[in-house]
Amino acid sequence: MRILITGGAGFIGSHLTEACLHRGDEVYIIDDLSTGSMANLASLQSDPAVKDRLFVTVDSILNTEPILELIGTCDVVFHLAAAVGVRYILENPLESIQTNIQGTEKILRLCNKFKKRVLIASTSEVYGKHLHAPLVETDNIIYGPSSKFRWSYAAAKLMDEFTALAYHRTNGLPAIIARLFNTVGPRQTGTYGMVIPRFVSQALANQPISVYGDGKQTRTFTYVNDVVHALMALMDHPDAPGEVFNIGGTEEVSILTLAEKIKTQTHSGSPIEFIPYTRAFGKDFEDMQRRVPGIDKIRSLIGFEPVTGLERILESVIEDQKNNTMVPKTP
Ligand code: UDP
Repeated sequence: MRILITGGAGFIGSHLTEACLHRGDEVYIIDDLSTGSMANLASLQSDPAVKDRLFVTVDSILNTEPILELIGTCDVVFHLAAAVGVRYILENPLESIQTNIQGTEKILRLCNKFKKRVLIASTSEVYGKHLHAPLVETDNIIYGPSSKFRWSYAAAKLMDEFTALAYHRTNGLPAIIARLFNTVGPRQTGTYGMVIPRFVSQALANQPISVYGDGKQTRTFTYVNDVVHALMALMDHPDAPGEVFNIGGTEEVSILTLAEKIKTQTHSGSPIEFIPYTRAFGKDFEDMQRRVPGIDKIRSLIGFEPVTGLERILESVIEDQKNNTMVPKTP
């Protein structure tokens, strides 16, 4: 099969690329390298078993010409290109909204023109600031005010979901929506805010581990390979189009406990430092205090299980950062 992966040089995109190539697919990537990196594809581009089936275009999805040709060429589209990461969104608010709304609208319009099946990577951020668990696909959504720019990301991704569902309803476009919860693994950088690569690089450098707020906020973490298998299975399932699916882990952990676990697993002497949100992000910031997915829907459709536990996830990130001298420093 010919697969187009927008954002294929990013963290999740590069793992998806690898899995599709190993399945025997031809993979076409478009990536503007804003948060992705060619280094994420380097091992595939030098692997004789797959390199002739990998085609990379460095360009923005906001440019029609390359996207038109790529969508016309490919059988299915995984749309992962997006502005991501809390820190990145806050530092680049306008560009993030443009990429996430106009970019996705363009992808959907062209997929509709060529009648290509498309999977849109959405996010658990769309749920907003709920405190209950688990969050299920039919839950209401609660956002803060528009002065707090974090919510612009959630609102933009929600518009992407509405647009995809509207194309499905109006034109029968086979569009699938995957709401990804915190996804982690090798090659993820902490530069744009993601907590695990940040804590691991701080611990390995024996620098203070930066816990925001009181550290009582919780998350679940899913290993990137578990997420990639779920994305591929959803794409292949005849009943997935027109539906929204959570993809996430089930092991709820507080950020303080996470910091302690990382300290232990890295044998680090780093102190844990509590940083007020105002110092980390300025006054217009709100965090989500709790975020745990309900995964019954995806489990019953494709048998999804997040099989990789937190300890193994942390081991893989620690190993990756120890082996990779190119890992960017956290700001
Ligand atoms: N966090 C933290 N220190 C950091 C980075 C993140 O305490 O250096 C916290 C952040 O406030 C949030 C959680 O870790 O409560 C997860 O943050 P991340 O940006 O990875 O993902 P989010 O779930 O917020 O999208």
